[in-house]
Amino acid sequence: MGTNCSISVFAKSDEERIQECFDILSSIEKRISAKLSESEISKINKAAGKESVRVSEETFKLIKRSVELHKLTKGAFNPLIGKITALWNIGSGDEKVPEKAEIEFLVTHAREGEIVLDEANQTVYLTDEYTSLDLGAIGKGYASDVLSAFLEKEGVSKALINLGGNVYAVGKKSKKANWKIGLRNPDGNGLFTTVEIEDGAVVTSGAYERYFIQDGVKYHHIMDPDTGYPVNLDLTSVSIICEDATLADALSTAVFVLGKEEGIKLLTELGVNAVLLTRDKEIIKL
Ligand code: AMP
Ligand code: MG
Repeated sequence: MGTNCSISVFAKSDEERIQECFDILSSIEKRISAKLSESEISKINKAAGKESVRVSEETFKLIKRSVELHKLTKGAFNPLIGKITALWNIGSGDEKVPEKAEIEFLVTHAREGEIVLDEANQTVYLTDEYTSLDLGAIGKGYASDVLSAFLEKEGVSKALINLGGNVYAVGKKSKKANWKIGLRNPDGNGLFTTVEIEDGAVVTSGAYERYFIQDGVKYHHIMDPDTGYPVNLDLTSVSIICEDATLADALSTAVFVLGKEEGIKLLTELGVNAVLLTRDKEIIKL
């Protein structure tokens, strides 16, 4: 998943569940990673503008969810951004700023392309050959939802799932105390605050996670679907706190894109808790 993942359980008898969790994680990655050429997502992408592709029930549901989340976030989370993120290829170690004309071309297609879902046949069709799916903005949240459901089904009453800083707490820490999750300072200096949760997710998006520097300018991995460039840093870290980690993940990316004002508006409309850190180091708790 391109990040460090850790799973903690707190009872000796739960230990063997850990390996099963990692098996589940790698099966999710094999299905939904746009970077693995044999994944279901890659098959859909290769068939863009040509034909529909039949996928597993889980993948179909996730793509359907991504379409709903696209609407819910007013387009700030755009699952069809794949050709743009692939063009930038941030995190590959071999990045350079792409041609403006190329970016603009792909932005138009990502805006106008459609994802056609056929429930009866469980197929997915991308109408535009110059678009592709990238579920990177919800993948870790989705994976932690699947893992927490698995652990709960197995009767694990207490666990912590940490997928690259996206944390899911299963159960309560103890009878008296909630889990305390630290939020990393974007400049690398320890934590800027902590959040208390029980049974739920704290999902963070930050510009410090993946980036490169060219001619003194920092280019990070969260793209504005309207421009095709990394979003302007009004906010430097966005953490969403809720039980549904897929929703939290989509919102963490989307609020980052929307910026402080629009982001707060969306979160207030949805009644979702969050901690935002602004460029001026103001901490906003919703
Ligand atoms: P996250 O760390 O959850 O904010 O997700 C960031 C990842 O989502 C990036 O590495 C891209 O693969 C993808 N991405 C970047 N910008 C967007 C966007 N506006 N909408 C959907 N996916 C995006
Ligand atoms: Mg996200």
